[in-house]
Amino acid sequence: MTIKTRFAPSPTGYLHVGGARTALFSWLYARKHGGKFILRIEDTDLERSTQESVNAILEGMAWLGLEYDEGPFYQTHRFDRYKEVIQQLLEQGDAYYCYCSKEELDALREQQKENKEKPRYNGKCRNASHEKGSDAVIRFKNPAEGEVVINDLVKGQITVANNELDDLIIARSDGTPTYNLTVLVDDMDMGVSHVIRGDDHINNTPRQINILKALGAELPQYAHMPMILGDDGARLSKRHGAVSVMQYRNEGYLPEALLNYLVRLGWSSGDKEIFSLDEMIKLFDLEACNVSASTFNTEKLLWLNHQYMMNSDPAHVAHHLSWHMGDQGIDPSQGPDLAEVVKAQRERCKTLVEMAVSSRYFYQEFDAYDEKAAKKNFKQGTDKVLQQLMDKFSQLTEWDGKKLHQIVLDTAEELELKLGKVAQPLRVAVSGAGVSPAIDITLSLLGREKTLSRMAKAIQFILEK
Ligand code: GLU
Repeated sequence: MTIKTRFAPSPTGYLHVGGARTALFSWLYARKHGGKFILRIEDTDLERSTQESVNAILEGMAWLGLEYDEGPFYQTHRFDRYKEVIQQLLEQGDAYYCYCSKEELDALREQQKENKEKPRYNGKCRNASHEKGSDAVIRFKNPAEGEVVINDLVKGQITVANNELDDLIIARSDGTPTYNLTVLVDDMDMGVSHVIRGDDHINNTPRQINILKALGAELPQYAHMPMILGDDGARLSKRHGAVSVMQYRNEGYLPEALLNYLVRLGWSSGDKEIFSLDEMIKLFDLEACNVSASTFNTEKLLWLNHQYMMNSDPAHVAHHLSWHMGDQGIDPSQGPDLAEVVKAQRERCKTLVEMAVSSRYFYQEFDAYDEKAAKKNFKQGTDKVLQQLMDKFSQLTEWDGKKLHQIVLDTAEELELKLGKVAQPLRVAVSGAGVSPAIDITLSLLGREKTLSRMAKAIQFILEK
């Protein structure tokens, strides 16, 4: 059997972490089995679907690197096909026109509520053999007896009695197909072998299965993923902070850190926390997914991000850092090689935003010194320390970290000062702040010209105080 999975978002918002996790699991399953992964845009809700959301979903998928083998397919391009299937069901006697008015259905629901019954359509038009009319909806004739058994790959066996399921509307009175119909027609036509989706769809599954059976289709396997909760136990939503995948990019996360976080959210493989993509593909298994909901933990994501920043190829991190540099109006061509900056900064920066902010001075002049750092380190007489350092730095024929460091050591000794009393004012002078990578690294990354001109400025500043 060819394994085919799909991600089928409705373009009514951005790509959120729940959707991204579903996409990732579907993608991993296809990759693991040498199968195909489809992207399908479920845009039949014309009022709520927007091109902007489609773009946001495509952008999110691209940023995460979840490339699809087929698609994107758009359901709005397939209306003729849905009509054909609805017609087939009508002709087979598996669907019928229903004229029950809204008022009638509301009254029915009220009555059922009063009788403490589950609200459901009573099948009034089921055997009425109505003809097509302008205000009729079309309902699927759900089998009256028997049961539907789903062997869910995550949740295990789920059995639903057919008399629990009422006759689902498959076409509205304007002839447009409903969500449940379009999904199953697409899954059938596109040869989807595994439907991996959120468990908010689990109630739809037995209905979809019954219609698939009526169409004589081969049934896919199902895997319903439990929800993601916020740290307060409620379903993850905007009020918990970032939920859009692109917002994580904006906040300075690496895509592979987010993928690693998402794969662990609802799946595990022993105690292992860090997975390369290849390891994910090799080890991922639907059967090992959690049955119950998982809780989103930003601290853990941040930790993972830091791990990835420290252990990935610096050139790769630099590639993503350069996006943030641009975002902050910093031109990374006006200074040291970004990969070298990554190496120097990654111990202390947990996000790319932090790294871009604290690397700005390598590329741009700063307007002011950090107040506290200047107060603490620029004292009367510090100008002389800086001047002495500057004289020696200027004489260097080669701008070399080791030599620069030696000069700082020698100067401290000559002036009988603690190393900090020399290195720290120097750091503030060249970076504007009290924290930077080791002084030799900072100076070699900055280069001769920026270092010397900033030292001259600092001397001026101290003298004018
Ligand atoms: N379009 C549905 C959604 O965005 C998903 C349908 C499915 O996966 O079957 O929730």
